[in-house]
Amino acid sequence: MTPLGRRLVHRIARHGPITLADYMAEALTHPELGYYTTGDPFGAAGDFTTAPEISQMFGELLGLWCVDCWQRLGAPDPVLLVELGPGRGTLLADALRAAKLATGFLEAIQIHLVEASPLLRKQQRQALADHRPDWHDNLGEVPEGPLLVLANEFFDALPVHQYQRGPQGWCERLVVLGPDGESLAFGLAPPSPLAARLVPAALAEAPVGSLVEVSPACLSLATELGRRVARHGGAALVVDYGRARPEAGATLQAVRKHQPHGVLDSPGAADLTAHVDFAALAAAAQEAGAAVHGPLAQGRFLETLGIEARAQALIAGASQEQAQDIRAARNRLTDGQAMGELFKAMAIAAPALGTPAGFP
Ligand code: SAH
Repeated sequence: MTPLGRRLVHRIARHGPITLADYMAEALTHPELGYYTTGDPFGAAGDFTTAPEISQMFGELLGLWCVDCWQRLGAPDPVLLVELGPGRGTLLADALRAAKLATGFLEAIQIHLVEASPLLRKQQRQALADHRPDWHDNLGEVPEGPLLVLANEFFDALPVHQYQRGPQGWCERLVVLGPDGESLAFGLAPPSPLAARLVPAALAEAPVGSLVEVSPACLSLATELGRRVARHGGAALVVDYGRARPEAGATLQAVRKHQPHGVLDSPGAADLTAHVDFAALAAAAQEAGAAVHGPLAQGRFLETLGIEARAQALIAGASQEQAQDIRAARNRLTDGQAMGELFKAMAIAAPALGTPAGFP
């Protein structure tokens, strides 16, 4: 059991079971012992690899996407460039290098980073040494104004609740003590009308035994993004893995050293993610006044943005070995068998912006 696991055992022994959303929030962002607060999870030596760490092409294309949105908005100056969960800062560094080509863009942007991890903030500071970002704990702290937002693999790290349909109705899934009193186990709260109300209407009649995930944290963030882009003008690009339509099933998973891991086995030492419910995000953003584009498979999105031309341009100046790496990276980002289908891109934009680049 990890140090955070022992603390959770204590807490549950004293105060009773906690929800999976509480568990996830503690495991990922506990101030001293959380997964993101204490380590660098990325790369071959870490626990997982993300698109910007696979290839510079990803960040570059997203940078050009931002420039295109900015121009469609009438090139506001200043404009806030916000990244949610910037990781090592790689995506934004690549994006800004590509966006430099657009006259006036770098002069207009004010960079705001939403990041929970002090360690990753340090890495972001280094990666973005040519720029002057501000850091925030959440989107609410970012000033109001016209904005462009990037969020790659951020929503999947936000806490989810799980509900299970029992013979007597919907019950929230909890984290309880195991039979030895020293480990963590899954439990079930009694059926409740509140649980039934939180399950999406489309899934209310799922068969007994079905599990459903709901993320109020994701919904309130989508609402806030929708409100801001509608009010001030702007666009947000959400790239994540998830489902386009509501579906039953538990997707909460732990990953450690690139291997699946028990969700309750190593709180604070393994990554936890859940698939993003894009339909729910879209509905929340639309209710807040925004237009929504997509979700679209990441592969198609990157192809429409011109990943092939970018790959060819890089290959033209590369050694044979580098050229092979570039092709492999392009395939990994776009192939249906790799990240191309499971990952999706969705834009939340001011209605006046029209259709952003990359979306049909
Ligand atoms: N976008 C990056 C990193 C993805 S990992 C990439 O594609 O490589 C998730 C990122 O979100 C990390 O930077 C993590 O520290 C941050 N994060 C996770 N939960 C957070 C929260 N609740 N508040 C702020 N940042 C969070």
